[in-house]
Amino acid sequence: METEYSHPRRGKTKKKLKVFRFLTVLFVILFIAAAAAAIYSAISSSNEISGLKSQIDGLRKEISDTTNENLSLKSKYSDLEAQNDELNKKYERLNVDTETFQTTITSLQSQVTLLNEENEKLSTDFKEISDTLDTVRNTNKSLTDRNSTLSSQVSKLNSGLTALQNENSALRKIIESSGLSVPEEGGTDEGDKKVTEQNPATSGKVAYLTFDDGVSKYTNEILDILARYNVKATFFPNWKGNSNEKYKRMVDEGHAVGNHTYSHEYADVYTSVSGFKSEITRLNDKIKEVTGYTPVIFRFPGGSNNTVHRNYNKDIMQQAISTVFDLGMQYYDWNVNSGDADSSKGASKSTILSNVLARATMDKAVILMHDTNTKGTTVEALPEIIEGLIAKGYSFGTLLDTDAPVVHSLNPAN
Ligand SMILES: [Zn+2]
Repeated sequence: METEYSHPRRGKTKKKLKVFRFLTVLFVILFIAAAAAAIYSAISSSNEISGLKSQIDGLRKEISDTTNENLSLKSKYSDLEAQNDELNKKYERLNVDTETFQTTITSLQSQVTLLNEENEKLSTDFKEISDTLDTVRNTNKSLTDRNSTLSSQVSKLNSGLTALQNENSALRKIIESSGLSVPEEGGTDEGDKKVTEQNPATSGKVAYLTFDDGVSKYTNEILDILARYNVKATFFPNWKGNSNEKYKRMVDEGHAVGNHTYSHEYADVYTSVSGFKSEITRLNDKIKEVTGYTPVIFRFPGGSNNTVHRNYNKDIMQQAISTVFDLGMQYYDWNVNSGDADSSKGASKSTILSNVLARATMDKAVILMHDTNTKGTTVEALPEIIEGLIAKGYSFGTLLDTDAPVVHSLNPAN
């Protein structure tokens, strides 16, 4: 216990104690505060470390996961690469296969096309042959009819001749009995003489040169060549106008001039029977007008078994043939095609020459050639054709000759 009263010295000590106590307390407070701060700091840094540690662990795990994932992706990638290689190889093989297939397909396609074409051609040929057969059958029938008509005419003429001979001998007897002189039997006849001159054949092989579609810029040249070889030929011209002297030369120089229709226009010739008939009579009239001669032989444009008439009137041919006969005419095709009209560009001289000489194998060769402005090679080949035929033993005749063959062709041409 302190005493109540004070002592100056004691007071001074008291004061010092107070200060000391105060400082001590302050110091303790400060110390506690510092310790608390240190403890707090230690605690909080320890928390932070453990946080970081767990973060690091997390990252480590993440790295290891990523690494694993990466490894797995790498292996997948190499698998895919291998697959890709394999697919590439397959693709290349397929490419090769595809090319092979395409080549095969192309070749098969062209084979199919060829077969189709051939098939079509065969069908057409078959149809043509059937039609030709029909025409030939019909023609045959017409000819048989005509033949029987002619036979009956011949027998009538024969009986007329016998009657005349009887009359003649009766008259002879009367004259003789009256004491007058009687001329010898027979006598000269211009027509007979002409026929004999035109048929000097001794081998029996006769070539009948025929020229269709005239007249042309080559007509005079053809006539000159024929004159040079003293060969008579047969012309089946159309009407070309302003060429009177060419038609006249044909007749004057002893060639046979037939009828090949006025225009040769298939539409005009083969659409109707009346049109067909008028195509013949118009040309006959014109030729008569400029030459004085009326043709009695005829050649169908395209030949009698042409297929072109079907484009205009498929049933016309039989009636057309009858029309020719009704006009008192005969028609002629050919059995040797020079081929000079086989191509629109024209055949070469050597082709025409070899065609004629190779195809003329029969005793009576009716040779088809053309007299048009595009057939210069025919004219070039003509001298050698004549010489070649002579070398093969042929003489020459015209289709007006009494023993000329009535050739009905099976080869369509112009
Ligand atoms: Zn013709």
